[in-house]
Amino acid sequence: MELEKLARLAGYRFVLREITHDKSVSHPGTLNMKMKWANVGVAKLYRPFNLQISLRNSAGETATTTTVADADPRDWLPGERDITASVPIPCEPILFLLPCYQIFGFPNAVLLDAAIERLYDLNVGVVGVAGERHERPHKPLLLLAVFDLIDEGFATPDHIPWCRELRDRFTARFDLVRKHDDQNSPENPFLYLRNDGFWLATKLGPSGIESLQTQPLVGDTGMVFAGFTDGFEFLASIPDNRRKMRDALVARYFPQHAAVLLPGVPTPVEPYPSAKVADDEPEFGRSPAFRRKILEIYDHQCAACGLRIKLPAAQDVSFIDAAHLIPFAESHNDHPTNGLALCKNHHWAMDRNLIAPCPDHQWHVSPVLDPRRSTGEKELQRLSGKSLLLPQDQAFHPDPEGLRWRSEKLIA
Ligand SMILES: [Zn+2]
Repeated sequence: MELEKLARLAGYRFVLREITHDKSVSHPGTLNMKMKWANVGVAKLYRPFNLQISLRNSAGETATTTTVADADPRDWLPGERDITASVPIPCEPILFLLPCYQIFGFPNAVLLDAAIERLYDLNVGVVGVAGERHERPHKPLLLLAVFDLIDEGFATPDHIPWCRELRDRFTARFDLVRKHDDQNSPENPFLYLRNDGFWLATKLGPSGIESLQTQPLVGDTGMVFAGFTDGFEFLASIPDNRRKMRDALVARYFPQHAAVLLPGVPTPVEPYPSAKVADDEPEFGRSPAFRRKILEIYDHQCAACGLRIKLPAAQDVSFIDAAHLIPFAESHNDHPTNGLALCKNHHWAMDRNLIAPCPDHQWHVSPVLDPRRSTGEKELQRLSGKSLLLPQDQAFHPDPEGLRWRSEKLIA
């Protein structure tokens, strides 16, 4: 199938086609190499990566590694590229030269994870006061409408017309999810999605195509267009990617409306998988995006004991977890109101239903805990009747449904 073939080719796939090098070289000295690299994928690379060449000695150990100075794989469009490199040879004799090369390439899943992370982090804005505080739905709704348009052949990821079909699909969804005084204004996200780094809106002006500066009017149909950028234009060209991005947008922004926003789409049994990696490796995808949002909202403070540990952002590790009230596998709900920041201990205890945050905004404790048996149980029992430590912004207070779910799970 053509689509499957495309999915396999997806991403940036670099292959070393040819390599020639000096027949002999003195040490110390310089080894000159010529390489022919081909990008056999369908997209160009957007992130900075270096081309490095390592030479091994006869024992198979890396004897020297050089970064090729003027090779920027981001310039390697699909096609072939000639690269020359000079590798300094150290004093130590290298008896056997074996160029070993790195093949760069982003599997589609890695790119998709990174894109979903950014979709989770749209700069949506929070409006309203007190109990009416909520995130504005416009940007995620526009993206859902755009994916519809691409599905239906009205648009391609790099050519999205500002048209009635787009506004209709936006409005149909808007009516389902609107809150309080939200305004039905697709023109707003059509312009302001540009601030999220993967959207370019343009207008046909007197002197040609210029970037869109103001919100488009209905009469601008035929003159205003947008396109995905930054790799999204390629990702969104694959139907299965659009399905996963749509699922992610709904899980993050409109979990309560999944049935109407994703009609006819059976909820997958498994949550969207994100790669299992060690704690100290960078992760991408929905899980880390959810965690970051919860930690930001709770300012890295455990909602049970108040412990706050906030390491520098660059560390990207935390002792405080982002716990789901109703687990994602069951709820497909990554809205921040389905989350709670908890330290490892209280996360552990909540997941085993020994403690529960309840609709009265207090912690309740299971009677199976015996404070005479262990100091740990004594500590947990002390939580009984204590208030949940909640974020300041009411827009992100826990959903009562999630609290009810937890209170019902508490071991009696
Ligand atoms: Zn705690």
